[in-house]
Amino acid sequence: MPSVLWILFDGGGDRPVGGKTAFHTAFKPAIDYLTSLGSCGIMDPISPGVRPGSDTAHLSLFGYDPYRYYTGRGAFEALGADVELKPGDVAFRTNLATVDEGGVVIDRRAGRYISPDEARAVEELMYRIGREAEKFGVEVFYRSTVEHRGVLVLRGAVSHRVGDTDPHKVGAPLLKSTPLDDSREAAKTAEVVNWLTERFRELARELEINKARQREGRPPINAILLRGGGYMPKIEPIREKYGVKAAAIAGVALIRGVARAVGIETHTAPGLVGTKDDVFDEAVRRAVELMSSYQLVFLHVKGTDSTSHDSDFAGKVSVIERFDKTLSSHLDKLLDHYVVVTSDHATPVLVREHTGEPVPLLLYGPDVVQDDVAKFSELTCWRGALGRVRGIDIMPTLASYLGTSEKFGE
Ligand code: ZN
Ligand code: ZN
Repeated sequence: MPSVLWILFDGGGDRPVGGKTAFHTAFKPAIDYLTSLGSCGIMDPISPGVRPGSDTAHLSLFGYDPYRYYTGRGAFEALGADVELKPGDVAFRTNLATVDEGGVVIDRRAGRYISPDEARAVEELMYRIGREAEKFGVEVFYRSTVEHRGVLVLRGAVSHRVGDTDPHKVGAPLLKSTPLDDSREAAKTAEVVNWLTERFRELARELEINKARQREGRPPINAILLRGGGYMPKIEPIREKYGVKAAAIAGVALIRGVARAVGIETHTAPGLVGTKDDVFDEAVRRAVELMSSYQLVFLHVKGTDSTSHDSDFAGKVSVIERFDKTLSSHLDKLLDHYVVVTSDHATPVLVREHTGEPVPLLLYGPDVVQDDVAKFSELTCWRGALGRVRGIDIMPTLASYLGTSEKFGE
């Protein structure tokens, strides 16, 4: 039975630089071989002109309307950090920070480097705060993720409709969270958030790790900043919605979070951590291997986006070329299957931010017609048989080829 390998170059789309884009410039014989045999098109990840975040774009690509299902970054970030979420849970992104006696933020990242032991000490502190928070009838979970970052989850009669405590700049005081609507849940959530922010400051004074940090001349971890509150929506899993058993390999926690939210099982691979220096051998090998037990395997490549934000055209080309080289050694195993290659949005190297134009799209497979496009690029794919589609059109298309979709009507 054929299955699908879906290769996603994050931020891979671009605008021409001197007449050429990174996809157009890169030497990528494997992808271009599949292109010559398959159908191409261009795709608006959300809809024409909308500048997507990676999270909303991925929701759309996985076949879920982001305007309905995107409920704030916090929830997807928490899922990506392996925190179990139930529908209705409210999650925030957090920073460990340094504030002065008056609560004015001196360093929004507490020096950025947080050792594993320090992270554990903060988790223990938050665990204690969580126990105390039971008096509000709310459960509190905290997990530290990378450096100063973490996620905080509230469970109970809570709401995501509350303001951030993160002032988003130094020299400003910690903000008091305020309810953003009249619900009792929002009022309760703001109360709990403000209480735990204060409690954290009190308990952080006694933290042993801060005494050591002080001795080393490092800023103390004496505050936690909350932002981007979101709730976990109720989402019909991809297996029910499209009849497809799916897996994803991604190094980026946020992408793993979005995948998990829609019921895609997530895997990691050595070498694939989400930087421009990622090595793809294990990731591609695993992806091909997983195709025997999943109908759809999604493989996320982050380096094309990171290099674009750095305005590094050569680096972007290199990520595509290195990926293609790895892919070429597995090409023979893919020829009886479907392969999708696309991007979640353009990140033009000269703009250094996500933009709203369409990205190239390739669909290769046993039953896919061969069009005239032989090179995967922004400059060529628009001439292909797929024409112009939206991100949300891809899953129904794949489900139809896989034979898993339900008939509409009689
Ligand atoms: Zn992206
Ligand atoms: Zn980006």
